[in-house]
Amino acid sequence: MERVYLGLGSNLADPLSQLRDALAALAALPDSQVRTVSSFYSSDPLGPADQPRYVNAVAALDTVLAPLALLDALQAIERDHGRVRKAERWGPRTLDIDILLFGERVLNEARLQVPHYHMHARPFVLYPLAELAPALHLPDGRVLSEMIAACPFVGLERLPDLD
Ligand code: ATP
Ligand code: MG
Ligand code: MG
Repeated sequence: MERVYLGLGSNLADPLSQLRDALAALAALPDSQVRTVSSFYSSDPLGPADQPRYVNAVAALDTVLAPLALLDALQAIERDHGRVRKAERWGPRTLDIDILLFGERVLNEARLQVPHYHMHARPFVLYPLAELAPALHLPDGRVLSEMIAACPFVGLERLPDLD
């Protein structure tokens, strides 16, 4: 088993439902267990500003799937949620699931770079991740608490608990 952290985001077609459905789909993955899920957050969009705000969360998954097999499964979930890949980078989407960390692995494959290349600059990744693993270290020794200290809580709002 390896511990994987996933970043989820949606800003189309009822984002809260998209994330809840995505978490149910993750829970149904073979050879994997969802261990914890952060609060949901509302965040400013990256890139084009003329799109709705996002809902984001981070989930901790324990899995024996290989990294590319997990990526395939996550992309299948994205497609099931009507994700259409467009030329525009960071455009609006029904569902995005990114692999933030995969155990202690460093992967630089064509389809998969881990740790996620831009997580250090994304408050909507770092703050929910810190809810799950406040003492986390990255494989290169970076410390999550220091990354957070360098990434202000700007454009982010923690949403009330759902239940
Ligand atoms: P960003 O990666 O900046 O958050 P994005 O999530 O919108 O942008 P996508 O369109 O979801 O980008 O994915 C583009 C490609 O990124 C995918 O086809 C996938 O192969 C690749 N990729 C590389 N590293 C990762 C990763 N750690 N998690 C998910 N996809 C990745
Ligand atoms: Mg992304
Ligand atoms: Mg993605």
